[in-house]
Amino acid sequence: IETRPPSTVNTSASMPQQHTYKKKKKKRACRVFVNRSLTLENIKCYGFDMDYTLATYKSPDYESLGFELMRDRMVSVGYPHELLRYTYDPSFPTRGLVIDTIYGNLLKVDANGNILVCSHGFHFLKGDQIHSYYPNKFIQRDDTDRFYILNTLFNLSETYLYACLVDFFTRCTRYTNLLKGYQHGDLFMSFRSMFQDVRDAMDFIHDTGVLKEQTIKNLDKYLSRDPQLPQLLTRIKEIAKVFLATNSDYNYTEPGSEIKSWRSFFDLIVVDTRKPLFFAEGTVLRQVDTVLTLRLNPTCMLADLCFLAAGSSDIVCDLLDVKGKDILYIGDHIFGDILKSKKRQGWKTFLVVPELAKELQVWEEKKNLFEEMKHLESFLAEFYKLCPGCVADVPVGLCLQVLTYRLDMSYGQMGSLLRSGSRQTLFASQLMRYADLYSSTCINLLHYPFNYLFMAPPTCTQRPPVFFHSFHSGHSSSHSFRCLTRPLPTLLHQSSLSPTILS
Ligand SMILES: [Mg+2]
Repeated sequence: IETRPPSTVNTSASMPQQHTYKKKKKKRACRVFVNRSLTLENIKCYGFDMDYTLATYKSPDYESLGFELMRDRMVSVGYPHELLRYTYDPSFPTRGLVIDTIYGNLLKVDANGNILVCSHGFHFLKGDQIHSYYPNKFIQRDDTDRFYILNTLFNLSETYLYACLVDFFTRCTRYTNLLKGYQHGDLFMSFRSMFQDVRDAMDFIHDTGVLKEQTIKNLDKYLSRDPQLPQLLTRIKEIAKVFLATNSDYNYTEPGSEIKSWRSFFDLIVVDTRKPLFFAEGTVLRQVDTVLTLRLNPTCMLADLCFLAAGSSDIVCDLLDVKGKDILYIGDHIFGDILKSKKRQGWKTFLVVPELAKELQVWEEKKNLFEEMKHLESFLAEFYKLCPGCVADVPVGLCLQVLTYRLDMSYGQMGSLLRSGSRQTLFASQLMRYADLYSSTCINLLHYPFNYLFMAPPTCTQRPPVFFHSFHSGHSSSHSFRCLTRPLPTLLHQSSLSPTILS
C-alpha cells in the first residue's frame, strides 16, 4: 500500500499542519479495509460513538465484569446459588450469535439463516442433533419474537451467561429436561423466560448504573488509554467538524476534571441519544447543564451548543450545517451505529471491529489451513465438472468438515466472527453491506492522509469487495490513483473457489 503526504493544496501556513506518511506496507492490524469507495477529502464531518469506539474497554476484563454483575443479579432474583461458581470464559462466545428462545440454543448462522454452528449450553450439537431441532438446518431469523441477535460487544457477557444457565439446568439433577425448558416440581421454567431474565439483568446493570460505577472505580483496569486518540481527534478537527453521539449519559461521558480540554475536540457532544431511535424520529432535544449535570427543559435557549442530550441525527445535521452524505460515522454497533445510520440517513459508515486483530492473526498463522481448504474445494469443483452426476469416492466433504473445525478452534469455541470454514456469518454479511470502511480501531485512520481515497474495485455481481487502497492527489478535477493491482488475501470470501480477500 502506498501513501504519500497530503496534497500540495494544504501549503498555506494557515492551513492544517501537514503530516508525513512513509511509503511502506502497513501491518494488517493497522489497516482500514474497504467495502465501498470513499474519499476522505469529501467528508466534512466526523461523528463518533463512545463505548467500544473512542472508549476502548479492556477485554476480557470488562466482559468479565459485566458477566459477574449479571450473574449476581440473577442469583439475587432467585436463581440458584450454584451459578456463582461460573466465571467468564472469553474463549466461548463470539459476537453475532443468535439465541433461539424456544429451544434455548445458541446459533451461528449465515446471512440467509442457514445454521453453521449450534450449541445447547456448552454442548455443541452434531448434524443429526441439529436436524432434530431444525429439520432444514435453517431458521427464519426475521422471526424476531423468537430469535434474538447478540450484536454488540456488551452482549458477549450476556451470551456466556445464557450458556451457563442452560448448562447448569441441563446437568442439575433437581430439574427435569424438557424440550422447551426445565421442570422443578410444579415449576416450569422455559428457555424464553430464562432469556428474558438475562435481558432484564443486562438492563439492570446498565439502567442502575452499577456497571458504570464499577468501571469508573477501576478505570485503569477496564479502560485502555490510547495516547494516539487526542492526536487523531486533533487532526480531524483541523479539517472537519467533529461530534460525539453516545447512548451513555452525561456523568459517564464526562471523563473528569483533569481532562476538561477533551471537550475541545468536538463541535458537538450529544449524550443519551437512544440509538437506533436517534437515526429515526429521535427524541426531544435538551441542553445539559454541565455544572449541575441536569438535563434542562427543551425550551431553554441553546446557548452552549457543546453539550446536548437526546435529539436526533437530523438535528445534528441542522446544528452542524452538514448533509448526511458529508458525514462519516464511526461506531462499533453493526445495527445501532452502522446499519441504521446507513439505511435511514445515508451517512458514510466506519465500523470498529476490535475482533479483527485476532481474525487477522489467525488468518496469518493458519494460512496453510486456508490453502488446504481452497485446494479441496477446487478439487471438488473440478471433479463434478469432469464427472457430472458422479459421487466423489474420496471423503473430501469429511476433510472439509475437519478443516472447518480446526479453523474454528483457532478463534475460539464458537469460531470466527466472520466465517465458518469458507462460509460467511450473518455478521460478516451485514458488515459488507452496511459498513463502507472497517478496522480494528478508529485510531488506524491516523495511518492515512485525510484526503485519501479508499477505493473498492467495481463489481458487476455480488463479488466480495476486495480492499484496494489508493492515493488521491487532492485535486478534484484530476484524480491520480495508485492502487493495488492484485487482490490481497481477504478475511471474507463469498465464493470458496475464488478465495479473495476482503478487506
Ligand atoms: Mg458503542
